[in-house]
Amino acid sequence: MNETPVTEILAHSDAYLKEFEAAVVAVEPGQAAVALDRTAFYPGGGGQPADHGWIDGRAVTRVRRQDDLVWHHLEGVLPVVGALVHGVLDWQRRYRLMRTHTAFHILCGVVWRDYRAQVTGGNLEPLAGRMDFEFETLRQELVREIEDKVNQEIAAARDVRVRFLPREEAFRIPDLIRTKINLLPETIRTVRIVEIEGLDLQADGGTHVANTREVRSIRVAGYKSKGRINKRIELAIGESPAEGAAHEP
Ligand SMILES: [Zn+2]
Repeated sequence: MNETPVTEILAHSDAYLKEFEAAVVAVEPGQAAVALDRTAFYPGGGGQPADHGWIDGRAVTRVRRQDDLVWHHLEGVLPVVGALVHGVLDWQRRYRLMRTHTAFHILCGVVWRDYRAQVTGGNLEPLAGRMDFEFETLRQELVREIEDKVNQEIAAARDVRVRFLPREEAFRIPDLIRTKINLLPETIRTVRIVEIEGLDLQADGGTHVANTREVRSIRVAGYKSKGRINKRIELAIGESPAEGAAHEP
């Protein structure tokens, strides 16, 4: 193979893919890691942690993206370059991350639409997370109002759509400017857009549910003032009944 290997990140176009077949394109024996030509594992980024799961039955202990490759760190014996492997995600965890990530986009959308406050950062875990805003007027009473509004948007069953746009075209969408799309490196020619119809539009690499109703419900689990301007909102995402049943012993 003469071309430099590249990993196709399948999660970018199909967030609901739970299993996949792929070929090993590189091996790092010292790191116990393999790179594949394609992967359903999300390598982490944008506040969303990397996926857990298995490759040929071996636990994937870590996933990381390095340049054009996604590396999967494995327990046990490594497959060789050229081998075909079968990957399986820890779907329960991933689906929780999808619901959580979408919940935070709903929060961003509500906070921007109704209060014109911008996000400055955030972090997600399965069914929990935090987001920081430049939101001088935020106070405790407003937090309950925001919680209600987010739950209303979940119940509104808005579709969540993913699109890929050429950089120049994406830059013409006024809504994207607030998410600091202009900070994207010049080398990125295609921008992945995640849109919650009628509510939120962001340049984003993460995995999302297809409709806001899949989030089911949220509650504000914490609120912190981190200074005059900067405020932090923590969310807890409701467990869905099906998930609850799946992991009870
Ligand atoms: Zn996001």
